[in-house]
Amino acid sequence: MTASGLVNAHTHLYSGLAPLGMPSPKAPPPDFVSILQQVWWRLDRALDNASLAASAELYVAEAMALGAAGLIDHHESPNLIEGSLDVLADACARFEMPAVLCYGATERNGGRDEARRGLAECARFARENRRPAIGAVVGLHASFTVSDDTIREAAHLARDLGTVLHIHVAEDKADVDDARARGYAGVIDRLTKLDAMVPGSIFAHGVHLTTDEVKACEAAGIWLVQNPRSNKGNRVGYPNALVASSRVALGTDGYPAAMADEVSALLEESAAHDDDPDRARARPAAGATLLAERLGGAVPPPSPSARAAAATALSGVRARVQSDANALWERMSRL
Ligand SMILES: [Zn+2]
Repeated sequence: MTASGLVNAHTHLYSGLAPLGMPSPKAPPPDFVSILQQVWWRLDRALDNASLAASAELYVAEAMALGAAGLIDHHESPNLIEGSLDVLADACARFEMPAVLCYGATERNGGRDEARRGLAECARFARENRRPAIGAVVGLHASFTVSDDTIREAAHLARDLGTVLHIHVAEDKADVDDARARGYAGVIDRLTKLDAMVPGSIFAHGVHLTTDEVKACEAAGIWLVQNPRSNKGNRVGYPNALVASSRVALGTDGYPAAMADEVSALLEESAAHDDDPDRARARPAAGATLLAERLGGAVPPPSPSARAAAATALSGVRARVQSDANALWERMSRL
């Protein structure tokens, strides 16, 4: 199995500057939700147009230079919602990277109004985007940061646009606990009762899904995406139940774009957790099928000249975006 030509089926271009010196919290966060609150939700609130463009440019250039065949992104920048997907799409188009983009609507900063604006950005981009090999889906951050009404609206919008949902599902047990506290058996029961099991949708993680829930996803035609480096780094567990579905792809969840490193982590982690080796080894290549579903057919792999151009541009991009990164860390420290 070669990592060149693989699709990264769940990532976050907005974290592209993180390797350029993002400050760590003063003390290690004690759990997954604290990691989100202390690191990633502060980073996303600090993003402005310049830093988002710089993040996307660096991430996409690296991904193209390293051999990725496509990116399925999940985006949030609460202080730059309207127009944010065009910033990402421009970076993908510049480096000829096939991509599927969404804004992850959430209520965690500004309630229902924030969620409506996130969904509206997905709809606007889906209707206006004309860039070739760049698709749009409807995003929700995760079920634990949105109300029932927002989930219903997102699913309705996805069907209306003829597209699907992209959402973090049961990444940590906190997501399952939240669904139960709202009166559901779990996240999949909640999404089912709210009519949000839209066929073809992309559910990232599924670490805390049961075998029956994973089978329900497969039966509904839903994709699950495993992110081994992120799951290990966040200590959320290993997604053993994913073995129950043939529709499982591989993503980096914002980790640097080297799919070879993600495949190595998959092989190590799957062996360490007694996962089915054949099922695990099928996941890296499955992203191409997912991408083709969303882009209306298989897209040609990036050309050697696109790879070479990205590799040539990379050192210049890295030097140029360092000042954007420094300004971003400064804003982040004040949030
Ligand atoms: Zn993610």
